[in-house]
Amino acid sequence: MHDLVDFIRIIPDFPKKGIIFKDITPLLANPEAMRKCLDALVDLAPERIDKVIGVESRGFFFGTLLAQRLNAGFIPVRKPGKLPYATLIEPYELEYGWDALEIHEDAISKGERILVHDDVLATGGTAQAVCKLIERLGGEIVQCNFIMQLDFLKGAEKLKGYPVKSVMHY
Ligand code: AMP
Repeated sequence: MHDLVDFIRIIPDFPKKGIIFKDITPLLANPEAMRKCLDALVDLAPERIDKVIGVESRGFFFGTLLAQRLNAGFIPVRKPGKLPYATLIEPYELEYGWDALEIHEDAISKGERILVHDDVLATGGTAQAVCKLIERLGGEIVQCNFIMQLDFLKGAEKLKGYPVKSVMHY
């Protein structure tokens, strides 16, 4: 078995110039690597999680598996206009312009213990918007966890106050 990092394909200048994209599709394609990555995420997770929040779209792959392993529910956070029921929406700043994320308004009950999961923590803007949605619904964020953390972009600083854990660091 290779190191997990060997299953991350590096694509320079995707989706635009200057971004070094971390492609997890080789990891998804290998059952042994997927199991190893899932085991590592489970090992990082705190006890007694009520809900795992997966961020569209690459946070869905391991988010559902992680929820099952932690005996927790899975909640998708999605781009605007995708969720069918009543939602809360949270805008967030991108390098150029704005985007937003939505969650169903009944997805979380007050005081539930929440784990936020996504594939990559870069600048932290996405995860920060997700945390705001969860707090608006009264959830308690007990961890934000990622497959990869791009330390040089200092995303963890945007998530101050929340425990941040990642399987791999760049
Ligand atoms: P950010 O809000 O800057 O932390 O970006 C995190 C979101 O963008 C995550 O949902 C990632 O899937 C995606 N992302 C950001 N940078 C990268 C990268 N270099 N490679 C792959 N995905 C990335």
